[in-house]
Amino acid sequence: MIKLHNHYFKPFISAKQIDNALQRLATEIAEDVGDDIPVFVGILNGSFMVVSDFVKKYKKPCEVTFIKLASYEGVKSSEDIQRLIGLTQNLSGRTVIILEDIIDTGNTLNEVHRIFKNEQVKSLKIATLFYKPEAYKKDYKLHYVGIEIPNKFIVGFGLDYNGLGRNLPEVYQIKETQHMTNIVLFGPPGAGKGTQANFLKEKYNLVHISTGDVFRYNIKNETALGMLAKSFMDKGELVPDQVTIDMLAAEVEKNAQAKGFIFDGFPRTHAQAQALDKLMDSKDSQINAMIALEVDDDILVNRLLTRGKTSGRPDDANESIIRNRINEYYNKTAILKEYYSAQDKYFGVDGVGSIDSITLRLSSVIDNL
Ligand code: AMP
Repeated sequence: MIKLHNHYFKPFISAKQIDNALQRLATEIAEDVGDDIPVFVGILNGSFMVVSDFVKKYKKPCEVTFIKLASYEGVKSSEDIQRLIGLTQNLSGRTVIILEDIIDTGNTLNEVHRIFKNEQVKSLKIATLFYKPEAYKKDYKLHYVGIEIPNKFIVGFGLDYNGLGRNLPEVYQIKETQHMTNIVLFGPPGAGKGTQANFLKEKYNLVHISTGDVFRYNIKNETALGMLAKSFMDKGELVPDQVTIDMLAAEVEKNAQAKGFIFDGFPRTHAQAQALDKLMDSKDSQINAMIALEVDDDILVNRLLTRGKTSGRPDDANESIIRNRINEYYNKTAILKEYYSAQDKYFGVDGVGSIDSITLRLSSVIDNL
């Protein structure tokens, strides 16, 4: 995802897809013009990349020129098309092919046809890399279309948003849903994830989802999910992935308007991490960071035994279950450090010290995201 001015944009069309589309256009046009030497006319500013890449793929003689029109102001296609400038060549009797980066409403084509009406060209054809059929309001024929796209604002490959984004080699689509900050709070049992999540959710206005808490709520209310989870939890084992993933997805859905989430106790396996990425992707969002509280085992055991005296949690009751939970963490869960490190999203934080000082350490990671 990228940010240009105040908007976020997500990857939409890859450089490879663009390359393939331009190759197809070049081949089709070369076949159609026969022995004519066409004049390719690019419409600046947006078409400079299209023209440059297109003509390299056009293997027969051709001429290339540019005219200049500006049609976009901000995110919406402007009704007020600027006049065309820069056509200095005599094009009478020539095969002219307009090379456009994108055709949406078709307003630019009005201007193109107006300009070429008196030029007595042999033929005037329109080729465009991108075409928005839902937005197109004109009757002019589009002779060559690279890729049809939905009616959403895009940037990249010559197209800009208020001046930015033209240099991107691939195309991004505007992200319409609200931007979320999503944190995975990570660490072994007893590291203080729940305590810290309570401070962070207030500070950053995020929704805190603790899968352990949701399971315990279900156990208390004797739901079918609770009964199923209890047998695993009491022994300090992980609840099966699909059960946990479905539950987590339902919790996220309940908070559709959230400005972001703190995931506490999830993901705990590779399959859960992949499911979470998919879920975030479906919301046009992503996990921004995994922040791990790092605490030595012996400190963890002591903390959990102390908590067990008042929490009433069966899995805090004795040292062997606690050690089993810590082992589950290192055997199954700690691999997630690699999963997020590979995406440059892993941040380790010292989890020993006063609650306030640990909150500060976590906040400084979030503030720098
Ligand atoms: P916690 O409150 O995070 O320590 O979780 C308590 C117990 O709930 C764990 O020992 C597991 O049995 C179960 N649990 C919580 N989250 C998950 C998860 N993401 N995957 C599987 N089991 C979980």
